[in-house]
Amino acid sequence: MIYQRSSALFKEAKTVIPGGVNSPVRAFNAVGGTPIFAKSAKGAYVFDEDGNRYIDYINSWGPMLLGHAFPPVVEAVIEKTKEGTSFGMPTAIETEIAELAISMVPNIDKIRFVNSGTEACMSAIRLARGFAKKDKIIKFSGCYHGHSDSFLIAAGSGAVTFGTPNSPGVTQGTAKDTLLATYNDINSVNALISSNPNEIAAIIIEPVAGNMGCIPPIDGFLENLRQICDANDILLIFDEVMTGFRLAKGGVQALKNVNADIVCFGKVVGGGLPVGAFAARNEIMDYLAPIGPVYQAGTLSGNPLAMAAGLAMLKAINTDKGLMNRLEEKTKYLHNGIAEALNKNNVTHTINRIGSMISVHFTDQTVVDFDSAAKGNNETFKKFFHGMLNEGVYIAPSAFETWFITDALTYEDLNTTIAAVERIANTL
Ligand SMILES: *Cc1c(COP(=O)(O)O)cnc(C)c1O
Repeated sequence: MIYQRSSALFKEAKTVIPGGVNSPVRAFNAVGGTPIFAKSAKGAYVFDEDGNRYIDYINSWGPMLLGHAFPPVVEAVIEKTKEGTSFGMPTAIETEIAELAISMVPNIDKIRFVNSGTEACMSAIRLARGFAKKDKIIKFSGCYHGHSDSFLIAAGSGAVTFGTPNSPGVTQGTAKDTLLATYNDINSVNALISSNPNEIAAIIIEPVAGNMGCIPPIDGFLENLRQICDANDILLIFDEVMTGFRLAKGGVQALKNVNADIVCFGKVVGGGLPVGAFAARNEIMDYLAPIGPVYQAGTLSGNPLAMAAGLAMLKAINTDKGLMNRLEEKTKYLHNGIAEALNKNNVTHTINRIGSMISVHFTDQTVVDFDSAAKGNNETFKKFFHGMLNEGVYIAPSAFETWFITDALTYEDLNTTIAAVERIANTL
């Protein structure tokens, strides 16, 4: 592969944009080399500025569940654009997407749209603190909830990849209100609650973790969290920015049959435009401005283009009865193929998978939390990443990221991917 133009563009970008990127995970810091500049994408493929084609397993870090440039989304945005791009007034389409989202997701009465997953989680936690009238929150090591101050404590993928789990600029005052538990370890949660009686407003969790690779909850873990929250008057927040509308139409609440008090969305809900959302039952949502005391706002929140993209996306997901099964079958096929190729070449690995999320960890231990995810061999991952890239397969440039399977992938694409793993496995 030739990356001449990407290299030149990166050099130029670095002079005017910090690190040449507008989000750190796009840089290749964890794997070395020069980030590839995307030019266009269609279906399962992304094309770079040098004309190389890749089978894409990043898919904009999640949103492209149905493939790039999905025609109904593209059409909806084009049509909407002609009517004006922002009004600062309420629009009918905001109610339309809200009604659809609420009909798909269990246990929510109202939803508010924002511009990113970060904003959704940041607002959800403010709402939870205001509603519960308590200050502290519990989060899990390795879970990522966006880059607002309260969450930049042991924050998974991006933050971990760059070795700055506690970012400068986050004050001690803020950090002290975020307590850290261990994923899949209910005792770690109980210990924090006992040592901070009546101080914890909320527990926020990725109900299937995706920001330390893919880590599903062990049996009973979410149910136990629900019980503990009920017993201690703590709100349970599911950050479904990655999993929402992906692992099931109704997200992990529906998949695992466990209710959260507040749910956060992003990624898929925007169909590739900047959208986030948070939702809850009436009692909690009515605590928000303008009817409640907790303030939250946004000039571009509920933007008509973003809502048009999101609505087209949710409609497609909602009406396609076979979608989730198809995605799971494709992911399983990939899992089996990759495992076989790595086994044949005696490459130590553990693959985690649920629905359309999968990650390959180069460790022989089961990966159930951040510490076990961190045991993966990063040198092997780097070789794997560059080997796959050279074969025309684009996976996230960090061992702490999930691969996102899109419905646009054909079995031929999956076979191509598996063949690529076979070819590079003996170099790992
Ligand atoms: C991506 C992500 C976020 C942040 O969303 P942005 O749109 O990048 O701000 C929050 N939580 C989870 C679980 C995510 O995967």
